[in-house]
Amino acid sequence: MVKLKVGISSCLMGDEVRFDGGHKKSAFCVDELSRHIELVRFCPEVGIGMPVPRPTIRLEQHDDVQAVVPKTGENVTSQLAAFADKVQVKVEQLSGYILCAKSPSCGIERVKLYDPETGHEQKAGMGIFAARLKEKNPALPLEEDGRLNDPHLRENFVMRVYVFSQWKEMTQKLSKHQLLQFHQRCKLLLLAHNQQRYRELGKRLGEQESIDSAFAEQYIIDVMDALSKPASRKNHTNVLQHIQGYFKADLAHERREELSDIILQYHDGILPLMSPLTLIRHYLREFPKEYLEGQWYLTPYPDDLKLRYGL
Ligand code: SF4
Repeated sequence: MVKLKVGISSCLMGDEVRFDGGHKKSAFCVDELSRHIELVRFCPEVGIGMPVPRPTIRLEQHDDVQAVVPKTGENVTSQLAAFADKVQVKVEQLSGYILCAKSPSCGIERVKLYDPETGHEQKAGMGIFAARLKEKNPALPLEEDGRLNDPHLRENFVMRVYVFSQWKEMTQKLSKHQLLQFHQRCKLLLLAHNQQRYRELGKRLGEQESIDSAFAEQYIIDVMDALSKPASRKNHTNVLQHIQGYFKADLAHERREELSDIILQYHDGILPLMSPLTLIRHYLREFPKEYLEGQWYLTPYPDDLKLRYGL
């Protein structure tokens, strides 16, 4: 089976490419994620020809944000943005991107931004490469290495990567039928993350007579945005109870009660999400239902990644 691809800052793979000759190896990415996903590494600073080790770069607020080497005064902003343009063909093959936090090239948020006059800093910048990457690929799931240590954010990122990979597998010229099928398979995931957005997107889709590339592009940007915040326990509970309804006619009273009880124990924080999901999946094998089997909510990514154990 062809692995899906996710981009990554080279230093997170353990490559000694940082300004000080070190790395920032991410054990989760290297040891766990790479078993299922091909991680495609890029180092923008090495990519523009800077040596290892090298003088540090910092972000400065001029008319716009610039990446400057304070030691030499060299401005590398346009080179870093051009590197993102250069690798865009490869980025288009990716279903997500993991970036190294705090870097003036790769950081997504809260990168130190300096006032060149006073030297004062505030954590308000975005790395030049990361900013260009986001601008050119607005639907691509992005995440920073540090945030992946949070089980909710980690699960959320990997789930988005797998949903986006499903989108990329569809043909370039999408029909309304394909888009409706995609929307249908996302339904429970979207409901768990943002019910209102799910309904808005469905309405927009229903009203659209024919699908053009601009509509499809905006649709997937909005879907990925709706999925970008981890689902709350309350919303998961609503979705689980909704699923439970599909087994009403199949389960005897005690088994229905048992499922209700396990869902409520999840709601109260006594059991992890995997408990009701495991039971539901068991019932689904016993009483197959095409609609539920098609829902990515039930199996968004390989179980082996163990992402829902901590939720
Ligand atoms: S943060 Fe980005 S630019 Fe810096 S070493 Fe890592 S990959 Fe290279």
